[in-house]
Amino acid sequence: MSDTFLGMPAFPQAAARAVRDGQLRANLRHATHTIRDKRARAVAELPDWAELRSAGKAIKDHTLRHLDRYLVQLEEAVTAAGGTVHWAADAEEANRIVAGLVHATRTTEVVKVKSMATQEIGLNEALAAEGITAYETDLAELIVQLGEDRPSHILVPAIHRNRAEIREIFADRMASWGRPAPEGLTDSPAELAEAARLHLREKFLRAEVAVSGANFMVAETGTLVVVESEGNGRMCLTLPRTLISVVGIEKVVPTWRDLEVFLQVLPRSSTAERMNPYTSLWTGTTRGDGPSEFHLVLLDNGRTAALADQVGRQALRCIRCSACLNVCPVYERAGGHAYGSVYPGPIGAVLTPQLRGTASPVDASLPYASSLCGACYEVCPVAIDIPEVLVHLRERVAEQGGHPVERAAVAAAGYVLDRPAALAAAERLAGRTRALHPRRLPGPGRAWTDSRDLPEVPAEPFRDWWRRNRT
Ligand code: SF4
Repeated sequence: MSDTFLGMPAFPQAAARAVRDGQLRANLRHATHTIRDKRARAVAELPDWAELRSAGKAIKDHTLRHLDRYLVQLEEAVTAAGGTVHWAADAEEANRIVAGLVHATRTTEVVKVKSMATQEIGLNEALAAEGITAYETDLAELIVQLGEDRPSHILVPAIHRNRAEIREIFADRMASWGRPAPEGLTDSPAELAEAARLHLREKFLRAEVAVSGANFMVAETGTLVVVESEGNGRMCLTLPRTLISVVGIEKVVPTWRDLEVFLQVLPRSSTAERMNPYTSLWTGTTRGDGPSEFHLVLLDNGRTAALADQVGRQALRCIRCSACLNVCPVYERAGGHAYGSVYPGPIGAVLTPQLRGTASPVDASLPYASSLCGACYEVCPVAIDIPEVLVHLRERVAEQGGHPVERAAVAAAGYVLDRPAALAAAERLAGRTRALHPRRLPGPGRAWTDSRDLPEVPAEPFRDWWRRNRT
């Protein structure tokens, strides 16, 4: 996965730092509450929302069960329509393929449609190492790129920034990436949008190559779908001569009838819109219309490993609507950067440890970045039981070994619980020494007793009381 977040501390440390940033918390609270309220109203308008949710879940589960078949069908359809399909096992292979395709066009810059998959593989950094500049064209991604920042939300990557901060970034940084911000730029949304429009337009008009992801791929016709709100995606998908789309293998759906379900639930669940403003669909290449060369890079990068996990695989149903982030009390306070991954919030806490594994401290901490309140499951339009996956992944992390003190405590408990005489002796000893027991645990257990009282040990063990009173 992207090295953008390499070196990040584990979630508890990163979150502790983030919650001390009052401005960040204010920005996040305002943004998440606004989106979540609008979403709730948009969803409540549909009397068949529950049925749509069940249908979305069923379609995704069916597709994932037969993923091999649908991917081959997709490849055949894309190829028949004039496109070329490449298979990438991991980030390195995907980046190598894309860089090779860009080099073949003899250009040194590409325009990009907002794409989580390309962030996941660190494509911009890999292209930069090859002398190729990637220009983000989504407004929020542009803010992140100009500010040399990191995205903190799936849908609104610059959600942690307010208007005044964005104005400053545009005024200071636009000139080093192309057309400068207009003189006297204020922080009015209309002026900021116009500055971005002017800055980006020259890039759209001269770009030879565009890189995108896709929200969905329809296996029966080889059609790719990008759902966006600003129209920048449409410019990238139609103007350049070469289009390269990097898409996770789980994004395939079998038929257009299946797509119908997702095009209803996604806009309402993500931006609270009844219908998506710009939905671009393309099938291979068409002479005289749009790019004359189309490459589809199908990305695994840990997805087949996730698919093999009977509990964890449901995370692959995700359609990246971001509704779970907007209702999560942990995300609202810690912000997206604390998750150390391009996938923040509840979905990041279950997806990242499956894609990257749980070997590093950051990834091992993510399944614990939740209160298990279940709000994420309630809003998920494809009914991913995120709390269930979190608990499952915690089990995996615990089996890895955990902290040495924890390991020693569990081993000692196992020994004593296995031997009734030793247990009875330990209980008596604990009862006699109860006045000396600390109120808080030392070492790694301290976080647990920060918010809980340790249960008091009774003066007399129950088995002794029983023997005295009942025998
Ligand atoms: S897990 Fe569900 S709610 Fe969260 S982003 Fe994915 S589809 Fe949306």
